[in-house]
Order: sequence, then structure tokens, then C-alpha cells
Amino acid sequence: MEPKRQEDYVIKGIGGSPGIVIGKAQPIDRDRVDMLAYRLIGEAEVPGEERRFKIAVEESKEQCLKVKDNILSQDAKEVVYIIDAQLMILEDRMLIDETIRRIREEKVNAEWALEITLQKLRGAFKNIDDEYLSERKSDVDYIGERIVRNLLGRKQDSISDLKEKVIIVAHDLSPADTAQMTRDKVIGFATDIGGKTSHTAIMARALGIPAVVGLERITQEVKIGDSIIIDGNTGIVLINPTKTVLNEYLEKKRIYERLEKELFIYKDLPAQTLDGYKIKVVANIELIEEIPSVLEHGAEGIGLYRTEFLYLGRKELPSEEEQFQAYKSVVERFHSYTTIRTMDIGGDKFISHLDLAKEMNPAMGLRAIRFCLREVDIFKTQLRAILKASNYGKIKIMFPMISGVSEILQTKEILEKVKLELKNEGIPFDSNIKIGIMIEIPSAVTLADILAKEVDFFSIGTNDLIQYSLAIDRVNEHVAYLYEPLHPAVLRVIKHVVDCGHNAGIKVGMCGEMAGEPLYIPILLGMGLDELSMNALSVLGVKKIIRSITYRESRELLDSIMGFSTASEIKSFVKEEMIKRFPMEFKDLRNSN
Ligand code: PEP
Ligand code: MG
Repeated sequence: MEPKRQEDYVIKGIGGSPGIVIGKAQPIDRDRVDMLAYRLIGEAEVPGEERRFKIAVEESKEQCLKVKDNILSQDAKEVVYIIDAQLMILEDRMLIDETIRRIREEKVNAEWALEITLQKLRGAFKNIDDEYLSERKSDVDYIGERIVRNLLGRKQDSISDLKEKVIIVAHDLSPADTAQMTRDKVIGFATDIGGKTSHTAIMARALGIPAVVGLERITQEVKIGDSIIIDGNTGIVLINPTKTVLNEYLEKKRIYERLEKELFIYKDLPAQTLDGYKIKVVANIELIEEIPSVLEHGAEGIGLYRTEFLYLGRKELPSEEEQFQAYKSVVERFHSYTTIRTMDIGGDKFISHLDLAKEMNPAMGLRAIRFCLREVDIFKTQLRAILKASNYGKIKIMFPMISGVSEILQTKEILEKVKLELKNEGIPFDSNIKIGIMIEIPSAVTLADILAKEVDFFSIGTNDLIQYSLAIDRVNEHVAYLYEPLHPAVLRVIKHVVDCGHNAGIKVGMCGEMAGEPLYIPILLGMGLDELSMNALSVLGVKKIIRSITYRESRELLDSIMGFSTASEIKSFVKEEMIKRFPMEFKDLRNSN
């Protein structure tokens, strides 16, 4: 085994929330309740055991409600849904009734009855790859642990007792833990587990606390009082840094904070180049709770609302009314427009109650528009809800995973039927609603000139388009190194789609992750994209880049890189150019490959 260094020890994880902090480590032992005693009880003990369980559930509810109040009183209202989801689990009949049934019929103690019920619930989530749904499993774990602690009369947690400013180091943190963190005491945190979209990371971003998650072994490496640096931008934690490294990070922190503050000057400014070329910078959302952050970061509208999140993690389909209310609440907040993408369900966004077969190759399976064209009633309900909401603000409808012309013709036919139904029912809607498709399948690229005649806009979904063009599974870490947005084939594909769209007189946007990556912005500008849609936190940085260059320069840059034949040549060239132009922003790129 490699000897452990005493100083300057670096562990790499995942940047959960941006920012750099330097401080003293406070490892917290969440004192997990792992071993539960199994105890058979007598008939006479059953009522008492049942009562004990019900009291523990009530106590858990009260504690969750307190946490919710705490969140509401802080600046993190957009994450209340996490606690609401946990409160829903606490009300779940299956959890409560099954546990009571076990106490009564199997004559076991409440802790054991609960544990077996939880195991069944966890089992339901076990084979699901979807990151969002697997987070629901962790909600079940958090709630289970809370009830058990109450049953055992154990203290819930210790974060609220902190006396000084610290960096929390923990195996995992529940949203309830995170909600108790106030910025005056907890300046950062690092956890063994978690990913970019884990609740801990979402909460950290909402609270503005820098965090690194997924460090695997940070709790084994850090002792109380160790000096540590959290770099949430690069996902690095440094333990007991040397003076030189410390000074280097103090400087990095100063620069980062200055740049972040300065970025807010772009909030209300248009995304326009120095020579007056305008492009739309809009945001991607999954949940309506993200709207405040989108507005705060000055996005001009919504370029991608991933509506499948309304369908995930629940037992029944959302009703037309529920969907209508959700869409209405988004469109009413944006004066410009909201692009609602119809559900991209199926594949990895698996919904158990829809009785979809588990597929061998889900990314290429019955998902998105394919699913909708098979389950027409479910699709029509969504289209009705979207059309009804179009009476309250400007909506564009976007269809995912279109592979050819017949799919869009079939889709348009269904949309027309739904419009006619609403008209006959006297329900108002925008009869000129714009429709567009995502270009994310190679066959749609090849047919882009023909497809462009059928729709009002294109939006390039690079997350899938790169995966299908380069034959690289976007969730397989073994081939992740080949997932290359600057691959010359990818750049040619994008250019072709933009040109086909423009030749047919329609707008072309991009809503994959590539659109929010500062390094790629001049290239995308040079391609002539009309809209870039991204994570809200990327909006200001992207606007800054757009406002600092000319359209002419971006065309020249594009011309140069289109002459290269490998991704690495393109990347080095673009990096050099960007470091020259934005030395502070791209400083860290100097040593990366
Ligand atoms: C894409 O594929 O680029 C995209 C935006 O859609 P999703 O990530 O939801 O598949
Ligand atoms: Mg996609």
C-alpha cells in the first residue's frame, strides 16, 4: 500500500457545490444504527409495541416539520421538496400498515418489523439505475434511521451544536443534517458518498456552501482539527496542506470569489458579442423548484424543461390537472418563453408501475417519443396539459428522440387531434404554438434538411447525440474518456444540423451539457447557434464569454479547428486560445489534459 503522506494529502472526489474554503475539519460520526435487535414479543406486548412505533413516527414527523421550518427560514426554499418527499414516506400506508401488521402477526419488536418493511421498500429501488430514483431510496434510508433513533431514544444529530466555524466531514449527510447547517458555522463539507445530483449536493448548492462529495474514504483520512481545503470547483480535498499549497489556494480562492461576484454584472445584460451578434442564453430545468435560481442568474427563458421528472418516483401517473398546474407555474414566471419537452420516459428513466419491460439496451429502447407513440393516451394527457398552460405564457413544445420523418408526422397528427378536442370543449390555448424537435439521434442529423421543413425549431441534445454518434454509453465510466464533445465528427454533425436548420429558415439551439461549458462557447457561437440552454449556474459565466469576444473571432476560431482531424488537436488549440483571452477563468486548464 502506498505510504500515507502527513502533509498535503490530496483526495479526489466530485465537485458537489462550487467554491473554495479553507478551515478546520469536524468529522461527524452519524453513529449509524446498524445492528438492530430481533426480539419476539408476547401477545400482551403487541399494543404497547404498536404504540411505541406510532409515537416514533409522530416524533419523526415533528422533527421533519422543524427541519422544514428551518429551511424555509433560510435562503434555501427551493429544496423544501426534499423534506416534503420524506414527509410523504412517513405517511406512506405501506410503511406504516406493513410494520404494524408484522408487529401483530409475526409478534416481533417494532424496530425489527420496521427494518423488514424497509428492506422490502428498498428492494423496489434496487435494480434501478436512474440517479433521481435511487435518491428516493436514500430518502427511505434517512426516514428509517430517524424512526429507529426515535424508537431507541437516541439523539438525532450534532450539527446544530457546533461552536465554531468548521468544515464538516461525514460518510453521508441527510438533507435534514444539511438543512441545519448555517453558513456562519459550516463553511464547507466533504462526504464519502454522493454524486453531483445527490440531495447533499443539491442542498449545498442551494445554501451556497462549497462541497466535495463522493470522496469514498475521506472519513478514514481526516481527524478532528486537521486543516483542510475544499475545492468544490475541481472536486479536490487537501488535508494538512503545506504553507506553499495553502498560499496557492488562498490566492485561488480570492480570484474565484472576485470573478464570481463580478459575474453578476452580466445578469441583466443581453448575451451579445462585441460586434453586436445576439444569441439567447436560457436554462434547463427538471423541477419547478429550480425557477428562483434560474431567475437569479439572469437566464432569458427556459430552453429545456425535462418534464419526465413529474412522472418519476411516484406510484401513479400525474393527472392532467397536476401537469397543467406545474407547466402553468413555470410559464407564468418567464416573459420570454418556456420550452417544454414532452416526457423522455423509458430507458434509464424507468417507471416501474408503467409495466415497461426491463430492457437489455435501455438507451436504444422504448423511450421518449417511441413510448409516447405507443402509449397515446398518456401522451395526449400531457399534450392537453401543455396546451392549456399555453394560455398563460409563451410555450414551445419540443419532442425528444425523433429518429425520422414519420415519427414527427405521427406526433403532429396527435397534437392536432388534441387541439381539436380542446377547441370543441371551448378550452383556450395558443393555436400557433411553436413545435420543435431535439436532434439527438444520428438518423435525425442525416435527415435534418427534411425534418427542418416539418418543425419550427431544432434543439441539439449533445448528451445523447455524442453517445450515439461516437457509440459511447454516457453512463459507462470505462469509456468516459472517449466521450469527447470536441471530437471532429461531433463538431461536423453540429455544424451540419445548424446549416440545415438555417437553410430551411428555422432556429437551432443546443440544450445538452456542452452548451453550458465555457470552453466551447466561442465554437458554438461560430457555428451560428441561435440559443444555448444550460444549467442555471453556468448562465453568467457563459454570458461573460459571449460579451467578451466578437462573432468574427469566433468564426475564425471555428474555421481553424474544422481543419484539425483529432479531438486532442482541437482541444489544445481551443485551450490555448481561451487561456490567452481569459487567463484568470481558464488558469486551471494549463495543467490539465
Ligand atoms: C441531451 O440528450 O442532450 C438532452 C438534453 O436530453 P437528456 O439529457 O435529458 O437526455
Ligand atoms: Mg437526450
